Amino acid sequence: MLLAAPVLCPECPDQPVWAASSSGSLMSSDLYKFVVATAGVPLSITRLIWLKYILPKVQVFGWFAWKKRLKTKEFLLKLGVINQGVSTACVFCGSEGESVNHVLLGCPFVWKIWAEMLNWWDVQAVIPGFVESLLLWWAGGKWRKIEKKIWRAIPLVVMWSIWKCRNECLFRATIPNLEDLCDLIKHRIAFWVKPHLSDLHYSMHDFVFNLRQVRKCLGGPW
Ligand SMILES: [Zn+2]
Repeated sequence: MLLAAPVLCPECPDQPVWAASSSGSLMSSDLYKFVVATAGVPLSITRLIWLKYILPKVQVFGWFAWKKRLKTKEFLLKLGVINQGVSTACVFCGSEGESVNHVLLGCPFVWKIWAEMLNWWDVQAVIPGFVESLLLWWAGGKWRKIEKKIWRAIPLVVMWSIWKCRNECLFRATIPNLEDLCDLIKHRIAFWVKPHLSDLHYSMHDFVFNLRQVRKCLGGPW
């Protein structure tokens, strides 16, 4: 096709040009800027999902949650995997249909978990009702570098822990306990994030039960 094209400028050598950069040559930094400019919103979300210090299966779970591809009862009903007559009620509250946004955010039981996590971090905010909005809001959090590593891990670990708890309630008839679940989430975050924070010289116990004080000692915004 190129051979058959007319020669527009005989004096100039024919060469490929990367139009997204001023120099005309393809540089990875220019490519990154181009992707940010054309897909800025999803990129800030993916930074919260593909966290290298969190287990890969949890990262993949986060991606499924963002894309509304979790196998919730409403999703399975839509696919025809479960029959029309089968209840799609949320396993925690029993009053609303189990959608991704309800089971991970909107459910009154789950809402208390998010409230406790914000309290742990010592911020007051209204949690958005959609996973994508939550991740966008979370990505906008302005913290010191060392704090950001912990902050970014929270939504992924919370959502994954809620889903695991939901599965245990559904398949093993376990009764969910809010306090135990919040403790477990904090321990998971501490266990996964702390080894990657070389400047954080505090015990696991301090991290879980006294995070405010730890952050204060680090010189966080108070
Ligand atoms: Zn519910």
